[in-house]
Amino acid sequence: MSTAAPSFKKLLTEYIQGHIDEQKALQISWNCPYCHGSHAGNLFKKVRSMEMASAADSHAVEVNLMDETGQLFAAIKISKNKTRLPMLWINTGSRM
Ligand SMILES: [Zn+2]
Repeated sequence: MSTAAPSFKKLLTEYIQGHIDEQKALQISWNCPYCHGSHAGNLFKKVRSMEMASAADSHAVEVNLMDETGQLFAAIKISKNKTRLPMLWINTGSRM
């Protein structure tokens, strides 16, 4: 295609990199598998860099988020099918 719109992957990269560069907060909440309670926090509080990971599923995009030490802090899997909610994995060795 000659007049391709920016890809989903590119838009997502720009969105996340923008949050990292400007240290913008993204408030999220999740159900904790350990205490069965609900937690909330700024996903980007500790994130300093990102990288796109090649998802096994071609209908999804995976993003790895790293902290200041380069350790994997969280990973997001976002389906290109908008009816599916993004999946978030947080390295439980890290603290938000
Ligand atoms: Zn908990």
